[in-house]
Amino acid sequence: MSGATMSAATVIQLSYLIAAALFILGLKRMSSPVTAVSGVRWAGLGMLLATIVTIVFMGATPLDLGLVLGAALVGGGLAWVSGKRVAMTDMPQMIALYNGMGGGAAAAIAAVELYRGETGNATHLTIALIGGFIGSVSFSGSLIAFGKLQGLITKSVRFGGQKLVNLAILVATLAVGATIVAQSQAAAPAVTGFFVLALLLGIAMTLPIGGADMPVVISLYNALTGLAVGFEGFVLDNAAMIIAGTVVGAAGTLLTQLMAKAMNRSLGNVLFANFGETGAATGGLTGTQKPIEASDAGVMLAFSQKVIVVPGYGMAVAQAQHKVWELCQLLIDRGVQLRFAIHPVAGRMPGHMNVLLAEAGVPYELIADLDEVNAEFETADVALIIGANDVVNPDARNNRQSPIYGMPILNADKAKNVIVIKRGQGQGFSGIDNALFVLDQTRMLYGDAQSAANQLIHAVKAAG
Ligand code: NDP
Repeated sequence: MSGATMSAATVIQLSYLIAAALFILGLKRMSSPVTAVSGVRWAGLGMLLATIVTIVFMGATPLDLGLVLGAALVGGGLAWVSGKRVAMTDMPQMIALYNGMGGGAAAAIAAVELYRGETGNATHLTIALIGGFIGSVSFSGSLIAFGKLQGLITKSVRFGGQKLVNLAILVATLAVGATIVAQSQAAAPAVTGFFVLALLLGIAMTLPIGGADMPVVISLYNALTGLAVGFEGFVLDNAAMIIAGTVVGAAGTLLTQLMAKAMNRSLGNVLFANFGETGAATGGLTGTQKPIEASDAGVMLAFSQKVIVVPGYGMAVAQAQHKVWELCQLLIDRGVQLRFAIHPVAGRMPGHMNVLLAEAGVPYELIADLDEVNAEFETADVALIIGANDVVNPDARNNRQSPIYGMPILNADKAKNVIVIKRGQGQGFSGIDNALFVLDQTRMLYGDAQSAANQLIHAVKAAG
């Protein structure tokens, strides 16, 4: 190896090492809302470094270089514009789309290497196939997830024996893959068949899953994309891809587990049970919902000592976070002790509420998670529920018949008074009735979360 190549290789490996350190540092910083933005920037910097070094040293012809730069410009430009424009409520489908692209890119690398027949020995061939398989499933599955969340696919395709059909596709894909390895070469028709089957599996697996379960599925596909990238990193002998892929794979797996646990469901249940589309009702709820006027609710809040605010999906839909924070500031100025209680799966994606509250400028020290805040409800004068439903349903604690029994919830029912802002009698994600809404101490303030918060602001101001 010449001195010049030697130094290029050293520069590449060193840069990848720095990029890997930046990914890990970035991920660490993303674990707290205080440092999350800088975490995203650190990780982005790592990705930029790895990309620039790869392009500079790949020894490409001017034509190839032009194609790569053109693609990076178009892709980066589209991502920049769509990232700037996307509404917070549309974030899950955006992530599905980007994630799908990652899986697709990993699968494309595998396909190119397999078609070129340059995957080397059986181990390399197997690794390329595994990465290609996972990436393809993640790609087509994520696109279906995107279609469902975006409202492009409105029906969940289900039929008898569906799981058997999916199993058959899986077995066929593995069989073709095994044949390729056994013959130690990748014949083009076999490779094509392999990828078609893997893509089909992603579609077939995702089509029957209800749109409401998609965030968990997307998180799973995100983990799979990471794994696929890691596998293809081995194929290309690229350390940055191996490390980035492994980090994404591990983080995605942990996130998927966390989401499933916070919903008290197994991953198998999410993937195969069609939950959230059954329209299941607990039934047997006694009592009626008691409405309250904004003026009375405002007085109740204004003269409270301690208020715990529980935001949920409805606050996100209404984009009410700014008005809610304005209301809270008024209460704090009056000497009310106030905290926000955040359930791990409030909203429709992990950290949904934290992001909205941070966007509105709520200081982090006022935001508490479930474990931290649950004991405090007993001493709260008012639990103010804003567009939350499932995450405060006491049936999860008390009713063994409930589909959400066992799911950890925020103990809003223990507060002395509960005010619930929602538009009407609509159910939450799980499609079941909420026992909290008919308790003696609960009052319903019907309306869109943003206009209700606005009315409360006027009411608190008028309370003197
Ligand atoms: P829910 O989905 O349980 O309830 C939201 C409530 O908001 C509805 O009952 C609805 O009632 C109300 N609402 C809707 N629009 C508005 C509006 N404009 N103004 C006021 N209220 C409105 O939300 P939660 O946050 O309590 O629970 C999240 C659920 O999502 C959990 O079941 C969780 O398991 C699930 N989930 C969460 C994920 C995550 O990562 N966060 C991922 C996947 C699922 P009405 O129609 O009467 O207004």
